[in-house]
Amino acid sequence: MDSEVGWNLDNSYSRLPEVFFGEATPAKAVSPRVILLNEDLAVLLGLQVEMLSQEVLSGNELPEGATPIAQAYAGHQFGYFTMLGDGRAILLGEQLTPSWNRVDIGLKGSGPTAFSRGGDGLAALGPMLREYIISEAMYALGIPTSRSLSVTLTGNDVIRETILSGAVLIRTASSYLRVGTFQYAAARQEPEDLKKLADYAIERHYPEILSEDNRYERFLGKVIERQAALIAKWQLVGFIHGVMNTDNMTISGETIDYGPCAFMDVYDPATVFSSIDKYGRYKYGNQPGIASWNLARLAETLLPLLDDSQETAIQIAEKQLANFGLNFEREWLNGMRAKLGLLDEQSGDEALGKELLILMKEAKADFTNTFRALSDECVEQPKWFSEDAFCEWKKKWEARREQQTATNEESYEVMRLSNPSVIPRNHRVEEAIEAAEHGDFGVLYELNRVLESPYAYSAEQAPYTAPTNSSLPYRTYCGT
Ligand code: AMP
Ligand code: MG
Repeated sequence: MDSEVGWNLDNSYSRLPEVFFGEATPAKAVSPRVILLNEDLAVLLGLQVEMLSQEVLSGNELPEGATPIAQAYAGHQFGYFTMLGDGRAILLGEQLTPSWNRVDIGLKGSGPTAFSRGGDGLAALGPMLREYIISEAMYALGIPTSRSLSVTLTGNDVIRETILSGAVLIRTASSYLRVGTFQYAAARQEPEDLKKLADYAIERHYPEILSEDNRYERFLGKVIERQAALIAKWQLVGFIHGVMNTDNMTISGETIDYGPCAFMDVYDPATVFSSIDKYGRYKYGNQPGIASWNLARLAETLLPLLDDSQETAIQIAEKQLANFGLNFEREWLNGMRAKLGLLDEQSGDEALGKELLILMKEAKADFTNTFRALSDECVEQPKWFSEDAFCEWKKKWEARREQQTATNEESYEVMRLSNPSVIPRNHRVEEAIEAAEHGDFGVLYELNRVLESPYAYSAEQAPYTAPTNSSLPYRTYCGT
């Protein structure tokens, strides 16, 4: 295989034992119409726009070298273990990009698979646009994530509470291996299969540890490190995933599964948007704890590979799991320093950051706009910045900044690169989707364009920085 422009698909996942997947054939789209095509991503993949016809983007035509499959996995959904698998996603293969990255590429919403469990395998336009908008916004924010190549109307109806327009999303990720893939292997109690999966995952994501004697322990440690870094990034921009089931947590450390996710407006750790998350299991403030819980589930699956003695294996796993908190705290604190324009480290920095968060909660402050206003004194300053408590905090913050060798200019520069001016605000996302559902795509294109440069602080972004003026709580829905 060469690295020239064009489809360059390999199918290493399909060379795993057959139990890890089922065959799948995309359903026929009666009249495909491409709504979104991500040309920048196409270039990174080594694909020319001319190769991405509506027939290919709808799943009607398979690219050369594709072996369509649905992946098998299990997962703890809201704490309960279930055997799952791709019920509405079809992996086409792994595109080898011009820079020699191996990238999973697949369809979502292209009809039932062996794992659909009674579901129709379809997706409506709205949720696919949501995944496109938010995953690409996350990418632009610098957060590891799956990406979206296209959204194509299929011309087929999707029956939900009402009849909706069907759509297919093409998405990519460094892989879709999940904690749940390991749970699936472990639940089947075939140690050889589990080992093959682990070796495959190591080769794909952590090749540097392949030849190490304790590679499975190091593997667990690496996944923990990447996930801790990821969740810290989520917390620092106010991203709430909404459905952190173990099947939605990757081995690579990328964000996947954009269902009921949303960005927090008013800072409150209890924020939850998902309509099905009745007890707030996946609320903003729980995300680090849930990630750690999920990683413990991963560790359990690896026990047979960690040591022959179960007792020793548990000790090894526990030692690694204990690092999650340390890694998370370190990543979070470094990120918070950058948000506050602190370029060196002092022992009081954590307290300074956390004091601000307490004030923000009391003031019911907008998360993004608080940091935006701190980063740029020219933008409208929030009213609560004139309150005594904030003024006192600000004095401390300014005194702290004066103690560093970095200039004020350097400090502000780091802040503007760490505090987005624009995020996909819920009312803007809804507005764009609603217009698209009525055939007007301009609002969507404009929103996506603005979200491409979240740290630009440009004048044209100003209208996209305003919080919603609705007083109703925002709700998101899963699997729709
Ligand atoms: P999610 O909450 O998106 O992670 O989905 C949980 C499980 O439900 C996964 O196995 C999905 O593939 C499956 N699923 C979600 N929506 C559908 C659908 N419309 N048809 C079939 N399976 C689905
Ligand atoms: Mg999922």
